[in-house]
Amino acid sequence: MFEAERIKLIPTSIFSTMSRLAVEYNAVNLGQGFPDFSGPTWLMDEAYKAMKEGKNQYAPSNGIRSLRLVLSGIAKKYYDLKWNCDNEITITAGATEALYSTITALINPGDEVILFEPFYDSYQSDVILAGGIPKYVTLKKPDFCYDHNELEQAITDKTKMIIFNNPHNPTGRVFSKNEIEFIAELAIKNNLLVISDEVYEFLLFDNSIHIPIATLPDMQERTITISSSGKTFGMTGWKIGFAYATPKLTQAIQKVHQWTTFAVNTPGQHAMVYAFSRLDDYLPEFKNLYQRKRDLIYELILKTKFKPHLSQGSYFMMVDIPEFLNINDVELATKLVKEFGVATIPPSVFYSKSKEGESMLRLCFAKNEETLKEGAKKLQLI
Ligand code: PMP
Ligand code: GLN
Repeated sequence: MFEAERIKLIPTSIFSTMSRLAVEYNAVNLGQGFPDFSGPTWLMDEAYKAMKEGKNQYAPSNGIRSLRLVLSGIAKKYYDLKWNCDNEITITAGATEALYSTITALINPGDEVILFEPFYDSYQSDVILAGGIPKYVTLKKPDFCYDHNELEQAITDKTKMIIFNNPHNPTGRVFSKNEIEFIAELAIKNNLLVISDEVYEFLLFDNSIHIPIATLPDMQERTITISSSGKTFGMTGWKIGFAYATPKLTQAIQKVHQWTTFAVNTPGQHAMVYAFSRLDDYLPEFKNLYQRKRDLIYELILKTKFKPHLSQGSYFMMVDIPEFLNINDVELATKLVKEFGVATIPPSVFYSKSKEGESMLRLCFAKNEETLKEGAKKLQLI
């Protein structure tokens, strides 16, 4: 009755819905993407230390300088990207707020924004809230590659931006250099901005290599790179994310950021300075941990009637629903959580153009071994 027009098309997040059902039905939660274990104890100790040292009041709106400095060092060291910590980095309340502030700052009503589907759901809502028009390019089964022609044809004279997520939620794809180059080529040719959501940049399996699109020639100036500490340090509830962009774009993003959250929790930022300063030491163990989980869930699913799509990155895996069940993803996910005690995510909500999502479920494997085994046991009952 009192709602603004612009929220009429905004759905309730599937993650909230499935996690609520998981609690209600006491189900194993392989749905919403978060670890069912905490990040490192030393990181909690650092946050507590910062609190006891009195670092409890507002941080500067763009984030504490020491965190921006350490992040700029990591971009240089890992990707040879130069970002000036004083005017090109913003600390946000998770990648979610970075996405919202960026899209709100840069999209005008009527601007078209290209999304690869399945998309991370906040992109669509953010674009709609800004009055933009989402246009979809499908990552098709079984490889979840995009069709070059489809992407080229989706671009019109109204297109302003492409939103690209790599490593990709929910498919687990890590895009090849060739695929990234083609997106860059089109962005340059058509003078488009690119949001590159790289929250899973360090969650890579086997020999996958992450190539930030901003590292390609002439791309840094038109790319807003977004990432999050929540994934890398297993603390999704701390909600500390980042946006990297040229000074002009950063200024625009910070105009929205200052009236969205103003600043992000201070002790958490101090703890993250320490965490990122020891990233080199931390990453091998982190990667091994998730590689073991990816391998385990893949093996476990092979014993069920679902067909797994091997994940190359992120902590998600798509599985095909057995055809003989003759049921779509939403119906099956509902049945599984209510009757079989396991929560999954029905991915059709991440599609707008294609119906492919109806034939799959998304599983999150950022879970303890026991949770994965327990969840798979329930899926085996199908
Ligand atoms: N982008 C993607 C692709 C994600 O999967 C998520 C959350 N899992 C986010 C953004 C949001 O990240 P944050 O929790 O840091 O807000
Ligand atoms: N990104 C997480 C996922 O894909 C969920 C984050 C959220 O619930 N907002 O499951």
